[in-house]
Amino acid sequence: MMRSRSEDLFETAEKLLPGGVNSPVRAFRSVGGIPRFIDRASGSRIFDVDGREYIDYVGSWGPMILGHAHPQVQEAIRKAVERGTSYGAPTVQEIALAKTIIDAFPSIEKIRMVSSGTEAAMSAIRLARGYTGREKILKFEGCYHGHADSLLVKAGSGIATLGIPGSPGVPACLAELTITLPYNSTEAFRAALDRHGKELACVIVEPVAGNMGVVEPAPGFLETLRELTRQHGIVLIFDEVITGFRLAFGGFQNLCGIEPDLTCLGKIIGGGLPVGAFGGSQAIMDCLAPAGPVYQAGTLSGNPLAMAAGLATLEILGSRRDDYAALNHRTEELCNAIQRLFGAADIPLRINRAGSLFTLFFSDHDVVNYETASSSNADRYAVFFRGMLERGIYLAPSAFEAAFVSFAHSDEDLEKTLQACAETIETMKGGL
Ligand SMILES: *Cc1c(COP(=O)(O)O)cnc(C)c1O
Repeated sequence: MMRSRSEDLFETAEKLLPGGVNSPVRAFRSVGGIPRFIDRASGSRIFDVDGREYIDYVGSWGPMILGHAHPQVQEAIRKAVERGTSYGAPTVQEIALAKTIIDAFPSIEKIRMVSSGTEAAMSAIRLARGYTGREKILKFEGCYHGHADSLLVKAGSGIATLGIPGSPGVPACLAELTITLPYNSTEAFRAALDRHGKELACVIVEPVAGNMGVVEPAPGFLETLRELTRQHGIVLIFDEVITGFRLAFGGFQNLCGIEPDLTCLGKIIGGGLPVGAFGGSQAIMDCLAPAGPVYQAGTLSGNPLAMAAGLATLEILGSRRDDYAALNHRTEELCNAIQRLFGAADIPLRINRAGSLFTLFFSDHDVVNYETASSSNADRYAVFFRGMLERGIYLAPSAFEAAFVSFAHSDEDLEKTLQACAETIETMKGGL
């Protein structure tokens, strides 16, 4: 059989880049085969260098809620490019994006722009440590907050997919300052705060987990986090890098009515360009340099191209804020139909969904935390993944990720996805 261009390119890439990729989640190690090299993208579709077309459910891992290459976003970037690409000085655009985000998030009074979600979470915990004068932090197993040392402990999908046990390269003395608890366990959290409450600078959580696959917060879980962190003077950080502007205009906090002290953002607010941000009350944010003593800086922070892309994206989402319900409903119907197909084939499947995010867990038990997520059948997912890919449906190359539906996915796209799903299931029957 003739080799594909992706195969040739990957062979070259493996010589030049560790594992052939610039981010581990892009590798196909857990699902088999080699990554497709993408040539271009438009709307719900991505096109690889071999001319194959796919309906895309990765969406660059979250940012592309409007679909790829949205004309208004492209135009905003084009206009920005003409005025130069970076100045290292304040601009009008960064104020406009800050104001849009602050208006959408009741808990945010001031915000700082950075260049990635990793940087946002890393800086937010430094700020929490500086503000409280405490060193320990608490996170939940399976939640990912970027790859800063203190946060790379039991950090979900990328690591789970590769089966890396701990986090080599992270000094033990730093890892020791990070307490991890099972997601959704209110009792474990209470017990931990009884012991460590006075030493904790912050509790950081994905209010809807997206990095062990989608896992929704159990009733009362986030409420308990809010109540007990307040009692102990601990900064509560919601990492809404995925959920920000994904489930509704604003964050999951707008939906659940719980206000964190700090919020981390990224992905959608950059409209497909590299952006992160963190924000919260003025009292905490003003501890940041140059207003306060906690240092944080960035050559490309608030980059004008990224601000333009983010602003155009949020303007469109703002004008369509009533359309989120329809997007979420269409995703629900897709999930229901997939569930029925697997039900009819007697293949155990649990679908977790939040808004336009969903994960298929090949499991016969509910998935409520990292332990239950990681005991789902990843080999079966790999078979499903390959069947879907062959049929032009591009899912995440890992069993522990969210699928992202965008406003650009048409009814026809969803129909085709179901058709591919039905065909793939036929090939799975009896085979396992
Ligand atoms: C993607 C993600 C991050 C990291 O963002 P990067 O831009 O990849 O550094 C942090 N937190 C959550 C919840 C994410 O999903």
